[in-house]
Amino acid sequence: MSSEHFRAFVLDTTETGLSRSVQTLSRQDLPEGDVLVAIDYSGLNYKDGLAITGTGKIVLTWPMVPGIDFVGRVIESSSDRFKEGDSVICTGWAVGEKYWGGYSQLQRVQSDWLVPLPSSMSARDAMLLGTAGLTAMLCVSALEDGKVLPEQGPVIVTGAAGGVGSIAISLLAQRDYSVTAVTGRLEEEAYLRSLGATNIISRDEMSEPARPLEKQRWAGGVDTVGGNILSRILAETQYGATVAACGLAASYKLPTTVMPFILRNLRLQGVDSVSCPTHTRMAAWQALASNLPPNLEQTLHKVIGLEELESSAQDIINGHVRGRILVNPN
Ligand code: NDP
Repeated sequence: MSSEHFRAFVLDTTETGLSRSVQTLSRQDLPEGDVLVAIDYSGLNYKDGLAITGTGKIVLTWPMVPGIDFVGRVIESSSDRFKEGDSVICTGWAVGEKYWGGYSQLQRVQSDWLVPLPSSMSARDAMLLGTAGLTAMLCVSALEDGKVLPEQGPVIVTGAAGGVGSIAISLLAQRDYSVTAVTGRLEEEAYLRSLGATNIISRDEMSEPARPLEKQRWAGGVDTVGGNILSRILAETQYGATVAACGLAASYKLPTTVMPFILRNLRLQGVDSVSCPTHTRMAAWQALASNLPPNLEQTLHKVIGLEELESSAQDIINGHVRGRILVNPN
């Protein structure tokens, strides 16, 4: 990277469909914003996979530099909140969807979208966690807010071998919850146990349509997949418990009834990391920094460069990524 030019992965629309290329851009190509960041790492999330493969309508403006999260160092700032040399994390706020994101060596953004990198956290760990880690932490906080206690019984986590699922297992096990992991990849049992899961059940078993109420099995849940699986979890969760729902890897639909809510006093807590207020996300990052999952490194699937984004995006959409992919644009 020269002082003026840098490399970025660019998505654009053409007459024949979506184009994907690594391009050399100059600073004047960057969007407006009050902070210029030299990016150390970005992550590859499910939503990035949807954007790059063109599977979902994620990208709202063209051309787009995707990448919904990144960590880096401030190299120019006209904001009161950040000065040159500060390390910052960016997640959500439609970055990588409406605004240019992390698959670039340089990015200019609004300071409102940034939080400081906690002093005890490395840039690499911050993106190993990334949006997935922030979301998993918000889900764990939702269970804690719902007074779900480890002694009340097992907590269920779906999409277990994915990014959010892996980190949620690790965070829950670290807090002494007994974790049941739901996965479509039973061959990942050893991995899931290494993160702290004590019981593994198959996705197929949980995908069977449930009756409005089933035998009470779970003290709480973190669901990343939606659809029949979330519906079954709601039917199987104990009286007065909380289930945190953050994802739709199986379906955006939720074929449920009011029964778990009106007869079992259940709380279904939605979790959003995109527009989550800055004070909430700073508290979540601080909680992650002061209690980093001891087995975080195990969640690393691989580190890739900008050239590998296209194939890795297909892998995450096909459900072939275990844990997290780090993107190093440099
Ligand atoms: P990943 O692709 O890393 O993980 C998703 C996992 O879901 C897969 O690894 C797989 O786990 C499971 N899965 C995939 N396809 C299906 C299917 N058809 N039916 C059931 N399970 C399936 O994605 P992320 O961890 O990045 O994200 C997980 C979900 O959470 C996504 O829907 C994403 O959009 C959402 N999300 C929401 C956020 C928010 O702010 N609300 C923030 C971040 C993510 P396994 O192989 O173990 O079954």
